[in-house]
Amino acid sequence: MSSVLRIALQKSGRLSEDSYQLFKECGIRFDYGTGKLKSVSSNFPAEFLFLRDDDIPGYVEDGVADLGIVGENVAVETGRPVQTVHKLGFSKCRLSIAIPRGSDWTGIQSLEGKNIATSYPNLLGNYLAGQGVRAEIHEISGSVEIAPSIGLAEAVCDIVSSGSTLMSNGLKEVETIFRSEAILISRSELDADKQALVDKLLFRIKSVQAAKN
Ligand code: ATP
Ligand code: ZN
Repeated sequence: MSSVLRIALQKSGRLSEDSYQLFKECGIRFDYGTGKLKSVSSNFPAEFLFLRDDDIPGYVEDGVADLGIVGENVAVETGRPVQTVHKLGFSKCRLSIAIPRGSDWTGIQSLEGKNIATSYPNLLGNYLAGQGVRAEIHEISGSVEIAPSIGLAEAVCDIVSSGSTLMSNGLKEVETIFRSEAILISRSELDADKQALVDKLLFRIKSVQAAKN
């Protein structure tokens, strides 16, 4: 039986369009944006699964998918033992700490004993532990930036790209704790046939990237 690579992509979000474009530029055709969960490529032995980004590292670890595209922030936060095959250079963003515009900031120690709202408790917890800061982390899944104005937290740790969302919520960015971009991840053990397909794909991805630089 010939091998087919199963590749997990974000169904709809900030990674989706560039992920699809990347495969298109690699000459790999498949239907996208039809609302379906799955699509088989017409000209490469690959099948695409469309999922929520947070679920992708787990599916790759479990072998439901062989490869996936996620933000490094999600790959690190979920802590799944998957391999980073290649950095893709899109969906660049940073995970930063922000506080109300009028609050004092003298460095990361300013967070000692404070409440911080975030969707990234592991990344934040590790960073604070490394800096020797003890703070209370409140995990919330969305709209983190409103936490200070409703009295839930004195600071937030959230994804930033331009900073305009922080600004419109009366917050200022004070410290970046992680820089992220989209990455291609794989299961740690692939059989020889699938590995050969990954190598073929990677060769095309590198050629596409080289042509852009
Ligand atoms: P899903 O519905 O799949 O769970 P989501 O709402 O969690 O999606 P998105 O907002 O689509 O996620 O972001 C996906 C990834 O894109 C993030 O994990 C991050 O790596 C990156 N990202 C997030 N915000 C930005 C941004 N403003 N600019 C660029 N990249 C971003
Ligand atoms: Zn998500």
